[in-house]
Amino acid sequence: MAAVAGRTGEGGALVRRELVVEGIVQGVGFRPFVYRLAQDHRLAGWVCNDERGVVIAVEGAPEQVAAFERELRANPPALAVVSRVVGRDVPPTGETGFRIVASQRGEERVATVPADAATCAACRADILDPANRRYRYPFTNCTHCGPRFTIIKDIPYDRPMTTMAAFTMCPECEREYHDPADRRFHAQPNACPACGPSVRLVDAAGRDLCEPEAWLAEAAARLRAGQIVAVKGIGAFHLACDATDEAAVARLRRVKHRRHRPFALMARDLATARLVAEVSPTEERALTSPAAPIVLLRRLADPALPVAPSVAPGVDTLGIMLPYTPLHILLLQEAPPLLVMTSGNPSGLPVQYREEEALTDLAGLADAFLIHNRPIHVPCDDSVVQVVDGEVRFLRRSRGYVPREVPAPAPPPAPSDGRTAPAVLGAGGDLKNTFCLLQGRRAVLSQHLGDLETAEGQANYLRALDHLQRLTGIRPAVVACDLHPGYRSSALARSLGLEAVLPVQHHHAHMAACMAENGWEGETIGLVLDGTGYGLDGAIWGFEVLAGGYDGFRRVAHLAYSPLPGSEAAVRHPLRAAAGMLWAHLGEEALERLAALHPGRADEIANVRRLLAANLNCPPAGTAGRLFDGVAAILGICMEATYEGQAAIELGAVAEPVPDGAYPLRREGGEILPGPLLEAVLADAARGAPAPLVAGRFLATVMAMLVDAACYARAETGLDTVCLSGGTFNSPWLLHHAAQALACEGFRVLTHRHVPPGDGGLALGQAVIAQRRWRGCV
Ligand SMILES: [Zn+2]
Ligand SMILES: [Zn+2]
Ligand SMILES: [Zn+2]
Repeated sequence: MAAVAGRTGEGGALVRRELVVEGIVQGVGFRPFVYRLAQDHRLAGWVCNDERGVVIAVEGAPEQVAAFERELRANPPALAVVSRVVGRDVPPTGETGFRIVASQRGEERVATVPADAATCAACRADILDPANRRYRYPFTNCTHCGPRFTIIKDIPYDRPMTTMAAFTMCPECEREYHDPADRRFHAQPNACPACGPSVRLVDAAGRDLCEPEAWLAEAAARLRAGQIVAVKGIGAFHLACDATDEAAVARLRRVKHRRHRPFALMARDLATARLVAEVSPTEERALTSPAAPIVLLRRLADPALPVAPSVAPGVDTLGIMLPYTPLHILLLQEAPPLLVMTSGNPSGLPVQYREEEALTDLAGLADAFLIHNRPIHVPCDDSVVQVVDGEVRFLRRSRGYVPREVPAPAPPPAPSDGRTAPAVLGAGGDLKNTFCLLQGRRAVLSQHLGDLETAEGQANYLRALDHLQRLTGIRPAVVACDLHPGYRSSALARSLGLEAVLPVQHHHAHMAACMAENGWEGETIGLVLDGTGYGLDGAIWGFEVLAGGYDGFRRVAHLAYSPLPGSEAAVRHPLRAAAGMLWAHLGEEALERLAALHPGRADEIANVRRLLAANLNCPPAGTAGRLFDGVAAILGICMEATYEGQAAIELGAVAEPVPDGAYPLRREGGEILPGPLLEAVLADAARGAPAPLVAGRFLATVMAMLVDAACYARAETGLDTVCLSGGTFNSPWLLHHAAQALACEGFRVLTHRHVPPGDGGLALGQAVIAQRRWRGCV
């Protein structure tokens, strides 16, 4: 591996520097980058990986060494995330040449398995160049791009430990792999048409639908003809169809039993995305980043490309991503330029990633299957982000980000009794599940695992847990789970047989997650708004003003309870939440006013009224989610919710912004009373006020309630830092205005930027709380 590099040849003094580069620097092409940089600057020395990261020794003319170090810091490889470069001067040794020193097996730091990365510009150019040997080859990749997390079975990250093990590199690929000057030096999934995986277009019985080389033309033709094609991607199967073809999209909704939840789109390129949505510079950066997430973009009122109405009914955004594998790039070149690309899973089940299962389970859903023989070892859904206040915020953190570490606070001091603090697992919640492995300050959040209701969902969870433990080397001894006695995630946590199971209150975990990702120590006021969480008193909490830290909390204020007719079933029927709140806070006669607004639903309201009168299955609830539901139902915006948060999203989509238009507030001590708000909404609706205006005034009221409650909490506790957490803060309007109004009141405001504010971020908070609390238990 030795290569000759010239000395300075100037006869001047030589200097030698040793540099340690920390961060995500292994498996991302850092050593060949250093090699080339050292050659450019005619430096001698070596580079290697060790448990700290990348270690470099360079020797040469002082100005060249300085230029090398500057360049190293300023322009690291695309997938590298440099957290720190520590340098020191050492005596020159007279070394000649620059070498890449091979790593010892097991020496590589375990936390550095990279995330899957979108095809880089150079590989994209390769597959579109008829003269290139990888022309139209759908598995082209290099050290700057390609699959990682989803194909790695175990560490160390080497080809035999990936699902590429079965493919033997041809001499040409082998040469690239061993050439430090090549972009594919040590690119573990390196492949070409001669030696790598291949694509087939088949029917549900696995029969070829065309000659192997015709896959692209045939798949594109079927999409143009309005068919649904299942496409095996990097971490899952997608179901694809032409997003401008209403018949195709409506059929996809029918076969997938998905009534309202918006479908994600894949656009041929940025220019195509701009035909249907606004794209700000920050959103453009997110779309074109190596993570290539789905970005929620504001849709154009008058798009140049007509998006089918069934793509995203009732919302003012479109979730768009750009092609992130060579297969996608090629497909989008020939297929319609805007495709629906939705997870290929039957409703309620985990995403599909194995051919056999996909062909069986998606048989009635897809007309053709674009499959390939590079196995996906673990499934990984697409990530979803939005930009609020110039920052990228997660709605779902998954492909492209996992298993990158998330920020966590310094762990508590080691116990004086000589025991070492155990690694911890945060088990997550039951919806939008992710789990979190935490050791010291290393926090690794899993991919999105979705709902844990089904046996398949639970099996998927356990498989993902085993995989991430292997990749990170974090073996938890303690597990934190939600306090809810009926949560499946809690049952799974108990089934692991770890030394201790620590239940953590749902909203305390949300608050701790927000503190943790901001590296916050000490106490804060937590404003936690979400759908449902089990409270310490057994009631359904979800509009919480908490005060405390990782070690504990007290509930300073909350939304006053209302009976929730039918309990969790009410989530699907927002009118029930409305009836319960009106009954509790305005009296029984308010139900007649509700019925007058919705004459077609008089029977439903009468039924709910009987439940309320008998107090049958009407648990007390005070949650932001149900408050949004109730108001959306009174206004007729959403009468049936078929996906989580639907009423709040649709209400936000129609609301006309009136930040200063709040309805009257009422709070008695720590009890936030929604009566005056409900009275005003009901009265406005009865007067025929436009729903967008009432919805806008409602949002302004929620914001005013938050500011008022935060001021009350500050007076009660002396704290002046607030965290905004919980799924309700997925609302860009609420997040932006609440953060601004609280800052105006003199609060320091912490928000989520690294994990989702909803239940997808819960596990981080659980884990950090358990890390502090384990001593009493183990
Ligand atoms: Zn590449
Ligand atoms: Zn090859
Ligand atoms: Zn929650």
